[in-house]
Amino acid sequence: MAALEIELVPCLRDNYAYLVHDPDQGLTAIVDPSEPDPVRKALTARGRKLTHILNTHHHFDHTGGNIPLKEEFGATVVGPAKDRDRIPGIDVGVDEETNWTFGRREVLVLEIPAHTRAHIAFVVDDAAFTGDTLFAMGCGRLFEGTPAMMWSSLSKLMRLSDSTRIFCGHEYTLNNGRFALTLEPQNEDLLVRMRDVEAARARNAPTIPTT
Ligand code: ZN
Ligand code: FE
Repeated sequence: MAALEIELVPCLRDNYAYLVHDPDQGLTAIVDPSEPDPVRKALTARGRKLTHILNTHHHFDHTGGNIPLKEEFGATVVGPAKDRDRIPGIDVGVDEETNWTFGRREVLVLEIPAHTRAHIAFVVDDAAFTGDTLFAMGCGRLFEGTPAMMWSSLSKLMRLSDSTRIFCGHEYTLNNGRFALTLEPQNEDLLVRMRDVEAARARNAPTIPTT
């Protein structure tokens, strides 16, 4: 199988949607489309038609593009089964019991609640789409869950292979790292990492994916 092609699509102020293309099957998914326009532009630039829309959770900055993109392309909307009522245009609800496949690829769905009560991650090949649960050097806010719930969700993600590439919902790395430095100002690894992060952000480059 050819490798998946994954492209970052910056949306709104600091969101990332991800265009995921399977060259074998000619499928193209967008993960967490905040808004339709940047997604349309990315599709046009590559000459691709959208076949799937994947949502990690119901928040508007992750689903705002669902309806317009579904209407335009007839794409299938896949999202958390336990949050069907809050995912615009949902066609396929998935959870840890579902065996959902993207083309010939098995997609591991992890239930990782706390940011929202039905938040999920999609794991395909070496890529994990973690939405607003896990960011680079941080985690999402607890809107609908408890710290214990977030801990168990993060622990679930920790069990993935160390080489898993993390594609998260926002470019929050700089702020997360600054907060980490208030706790561990002498941490050498963190200081080195932050030099890279600051350089990347200074030239407006993404810090995602991370591991
Ligand atoms: Zn969110
Ligand atoms: Fe978000």
